[in-house]
Amino acid sequence: MKRQVDLLVQLQEKDQKIDQLRWQIRQGPERLKGLETQLQTLDQVIEADKKRVEELQQGQREYESDIEDGVAHIRKSRGRLMGIKNNREYKAFLREIEDTEKENAKREDKVLECLEEIEGLNQGFELKEDEVSTRRDGLESERKAVDEEVARIEEELADVEHGREELMQTIDSNLLGKYKQIKTTSGSIVLSLVNHATCGACHLGIPPQMYNELQRQDTLQLCPHCQRIIYWKEAEPTP
Ligand SMILES: [Zn+2]
Repeated sequence: MKRQVDLLVQLQEKDQKIDQLRWQIRQGPERLKGLETQLQTLDQVIEADKKRVEELQQGQREYESDIEDGVAHIRKSRGRLMGIKNNREYKAFLREIEDTEKENAKREDKVLECLEEIEGLNQGFELKEDEVSTRRDGLESERKAVDEEVARIEEELADVEHGREELMQTIDSNLLGKYKQIKTTSGSIVLSLVNHATCGACHLGIPPQMYNELQRQDTLQLCPHCQRIIYWKEAEPTP
């Protein structure tokens, strides 16, 4: 029985190794997904900035056209000013010209604001496009590294799986059935090492009678608490 339990312990090690390798294989693409998301976010920011520049340019054109209209209006009003004899009407015309000039001054400020914001955004583009290109390069080399790593792990996985197949041929089929059954209910720990009469998986005590039998290593013993196969190892002699 000791020999068979030893083989089951080896099988468990291989199964755990296989789980670990499969987990590692899944991690690579996850890492890439994170980098891709960062890149997409940056692209979205650039797109939003470009749209903002278009809006600002549109606004600038509108202000400039309003300024031109204002200037034309002022010129026309000035022309008519000459012919006005009535003092009140004259003053009203002057006020209107003044108001239009004030409006135009405000529009000129707005044009300047647009130009400043456009300039700021244009400067930002260069930095952001640089960052996009750096990150794109980074993503490409990471993708290559992940591909290589996954290929290496898959090779190792194939080796371990092959070893597992061979190992299973040497294990009693009833025991193998028991192993699979416990694995379904208890997860990756099927065999539990007992140390100082305590189950290593559930950490509960093994009754003395059972512990004695376990140390004889000639029958299959299950932990009375977690129902896993328990096994025992003679302590390494202390040097
Ligand atoms: Zn237990």
